[in-house]
Amino acid sequence: MSEPLALTEVTIVLGDRRLFAPLSFTVAPGEITTVMGPSGSGKSTLLSYLSGFLAAPFNGFGRVAIGEQDITGLAAERRRIGILFQDDLLFPHLSVGQNLAFGLPASAGSRQERRQIIERALAQAGLEGFRKRDPATLSGGQRARVALLRTLLAEPRALLLDEPFNRLDVALRQEIRRFVFERSRERSIPVLLVTHDPEDAAAAGGPIVTLRQTI
Ligand code: ADP
Ligand code: MG
Repeated sequence: MSEPLALTEVTIVLGDRRLFAPLSFTVAPGEITTVMGPSGSGKSTLLSYLSGFLAAPFNGFGRVAIGEQDITGLAAERRRIGILFQDDLLFPHLSVGQNLAFGLPASAGSRQERRQIIERALAQAGLEGFRKRDPATLSGGQRARVALLRTLLAEPRALLLDEPFNRLDVALRQEIRRFVFERSRERSIPVLLVTHDPEDAAAAGGPIVTLRQTI
């Protein structure tokens, strides 16, 4: 069921400039590979390409596959790649439970079954009884956990993390990092983590890929 995420000769071009030298690597299920590089080196753009959201003025090249399936040409919603950003916001006019319902596939069953899935996810994340809460009443750490839960409820085949811990203070950063890594390892999905922080990379425990400029 769990399959590796494989990049072959992936690069991004902006005008006549190549953002980084072509990348080829594989992320095994349950493994966290860290992508590092200075600000502006193309880390977020790389994740857009992998998730199917790359737009003009960028052009992406190279093959992206999950297991045997080449997903390079697939529309974003058919790739089943989850992505979590630094500023991942919950919809403010919806409850925590309604926010999580956005992550659920349409096929996830009856209203009652959907509610059970959401309550179970909240309980596993130490957020029992939070279903009806207004996101504005949550702490930063609780919001971060809900944002991850929403991403995972969609049952992604791979998870992309774009500096998701940056806004958190040191203690919270460690807690949320552990939470994110544990969740993705127990699901045994490949994870690509973009970060500036060598401590994040050390905690991830996987290979490190550094974006290199060639021009
Ligand atoms: P990183 O995430 O590594 O900081 P980005 O992927 O966000 O870098 O950006 C890569 C490069 O693309 C940067 O040099 C940035 O200035 C440029 N860039 C980002 N968005 C646009 C845009 N809409 N139009 C033109 N250039 C852009
Ligand atoms: Mg970025």
